[in-house]
Amino acid sequence: MSAPLFPLFADLQGRRVLVVGGGPVAERKTEALLHAGALPRVGAPDLTPHLLAWHEAGRIEWIDGRFDPHWLSGVWLVVAATDDADVNRAVAAAADGRHVFANVVDDRELSTFQVPAIVERGPLQVAISSGGGAPMLARHLRRQLETLLDDSWTSLAELFTRQRQRIRQRFPQTAERRRFFEKLLAGPLPRLYRQQLHAQAEQHFQAMLDEHVSSTRAGSVAVVGAGPGDAGLLTLNALRAMNEADVILHDRLVSEDVLRLGRRDATYIEVGKSATGHSTHQDDIHALMLEHARTGKRVVRLKGGDPFVFGRGGEELEFLRSHGIPYEVVPGITAAIACAAYAGIPLTHRDHAQSVKLVTAHCKDSFDTLDWQSLAQERQTLAVYMGVAGLEGLRDRLVAHGRAPSTPFALIENGSRRDQRVLTGTLADLPETARFHQVRSPALLVLGEVAALAGTLHWFGAPPVGAAAPTHSRNLPTPTLQAA
Ligand code: SAH
Repeated sequence: MSAPLFPLFADLQGRRVLVVGGGPVAERKTEALLHAGALPRVGAPDLTPHLLAWHEAGRIEWIDGRFDPHWLSGVWLVVAATDDADVNRAVAAAADGRHVFANVVDDRELSTFQVPAIVERGPLQVAISSGGGAPMLARHLRRQLETLLDDSWTSLAELFTRQRQRIRQRFPQTAERRRFFEKLLAGPLPRLYRQQLHAQAEQHFQAMLDEHVSSTRAGSVAVVGAGPGDAGLLTLNALRAMNEADVILHDRLVSEDVLRLGRRDATYIEVGKSATGHSTHQDDIHALMLEHARTGKRVVRLKGGDPFVFGRGGEELEFLRSHGIPYEVVPGITAAIACAAYAGIPLTHRDHAQSVKLVTAHCKDSFDTLDWQSLAQERQTLAVYMGVAGLEGLRDRLVAHGRAPSTPFALIENGSRRDQRVLTGTLADLPETARFHQVRSPALLVLGEVAALAGTLHWFGAPPVGAAAPTHSRNLPTPTLQAA
């Protein structure tokens, strides 16, 4: 094994660097050098249009021709980015003789320095190197870090850079300075930046510097939408919140696949609410959020779909606000959007539906408050949540208010999950079909002309099952048919 590389960040501002080659790779390297303020000298017989434009704008020097060791005079570094192995070797040899560090693109043996993969957040740079041996691995790690480091890191790095002198004056000892930074980073500062509350962030920083705020760590709650089940439908922000959480209060609707992505040493508490089984009372959920946030924990309140679509997210925010607990909200992909997509049903369509309504109908009371006249209108799509129990009432009222009994529907059970099932038919047979196929929660009803498209546009899981139930038969035998 050769010795490890010595990592360093070089100041190239105003310094000349030679790039040999004028193709796309040379262009990328030149761009990175310009970003660092270097003065690139590009030597090649031909340049890409961008390189040419930079030359014409006076940003780079161009030496037209084949490599000559004289090109190295006055340069601090050289990058060989030609596809000619002999030229690359000649560049490396000439550089070595002049004690100039050389990077030969994709050639670890010939190189005397490597360019790391970079994650950049303002003045903060994370450099990843595999010593040139496994660049793909370094790039893979880079992509992972990109998703983990949100934009607040830029603001933090800029703030700390700007305030460096003041912080040093206030806390001359390294140990107290470290404690100050630890307190800052464990407190609300990163969240304030994520929320784009820059003035408040600065105020908080100022108060911390003047020691006007106590050092106890303030807890907070992130109300996070977990989407319909497929973990790939989580947002990056949801993933970050789950990675930083101390406590995760999750609904029963949140899938195992999603929960597996949360921080391993977080405390997971199921506060499930199921249509049938026993459930945690909303007040108890509030109390749990409060209890944990007050002891300084970062709480994630993880909800199926989107927290603000039939998710009682509004009530939870009102509660948190009334108790002075800071919060943030991460939207999720709601069941209507996800189930429609995973069943191949466009919720709107120029030929079939100009609007879509998200409706919930799970009990008699909620039925009576709905505006059936408007729900029964044609050329619109209804996405009905929590409707499995009330399908008969739904059908009868819609038909009574003029919706055609031939209107297509699709019932999507376990949308986006491995066991997704889609049933299709017409409004007239909706409750019977659901009963015959023993549709279980969670299931979403899509009603409207667009639902018929599931028959041709489906792409996920099993194709939709058409109306297999006998039309209008009210006395079905006990069904035994299970999910396909
Ligand atoms: N906040 C959630 C909805 C909660 S209400 C959201 O935005 O999706 C619960 C209802 O959502 C269920 O009864 C069902 O109608 C629907 N639902 C949620 N996830 C679903 C899924 N994966 N498949 C089908 N329906 C789902």
